[in-house]
Amino acid sequence: MYVGCHLSSSKGFAAMGKTALSIDANTYQFFTRNPRGSKAKDWDPADVAAGNALRREHGFGPIVAHAPYTINACSAEESVREFARQTLGDDLHRLEAVEDCYYNFHPGSHVGQGAETGIDQIADTLNAILWPEQTTTVLLETMAGKGSEVGRTFEELRAIIDRVELSDKLGVCLDTCHVSDGGYDVVHNLEGVLEEFDRILGLDRLKALHINDSMNPLGAHKDRHACLGEGTLGLDFFYAVVDHPILHRLPLLLETPNELEGYAREIALLRAHDGKGA
Ligand code: FE
Ligand code: FE
Ligand code: ZN
Repeated sequence: MYVGCHLSSSKGFAAMGKTALSIDANTYQFFTRNPRGSKAKDWDPADVAAGNALRREHGFGPIVAHAPYTINACSAEESVREFARQTLGDDLHRLEAVEDCYYNFHPGSHVGQGAETGIDQIADTLNAILWPEQTTTVLLETMAGKGSEVGRTFEELRAIIDRVELSDKLGVCLDTCHVSDGGYDVVHNLEGVLEEFDRILGLDRLKALHINDSMNPLGAHKDRHACLGEGTLGLDFFYAVVDHPILHRLPLLLETPNELEGYAREIALLRAHDGKGA
């Protein structure tokens, strides 16, 4: 099982690997740059190589680079879309040095333009930055449907993928808090939701999970993460994820409201359950 959490990238790749090891994680997620700031710090090639080596040595699973959540590929303003294009493209090129890494981003908010226009603009952005030889798979994150977020439904993600030429470079990251907020009842019908995912997107597109409990009920469209067992999804749901034959093989990443200690506790909880379930 590959389980980990979101980590600060401020000290670099080797440091993130060591921090992950210290909390018994064998995957992790990080922001490619300060979510608020625009300029990315340069990555030290020696540090990236040391991070790669550490992960190989300790049998880590794939890791996830998260794009800044402040970019919007379907803003009504061309300058904002251009900034998203630049940021995503620049990150993607830098990530070629990072082994076994996904690049996750929030598709965007259409800000009143309508989902159709949003979907077109997100696809345009991806068509502008993907290239045939890239090795990093780009993940569209399932969204809560807060405000005018695109990507609340599997159909919207499908529509984006269908408009992208190099769609073999695309996958999906399923956020458990977000899909519940989006109206998918994963607690009572995990199998049914996954069947729907498979029918619309294909389960082979599913590359990673954000495992967050939710402060709000099904369909709330609020996007407030809770610690495991302290929200409306509940601990048994996360045990069902760990027990699931397909989900079990994917990187499971915590984005719960925690410091490192809390993450260590949640990772220990999941590991203690691993192998004990159905
Ligand atoms: Fe996210
Ligand atoms: Fe998430
Ligand atoms: Zn969220």
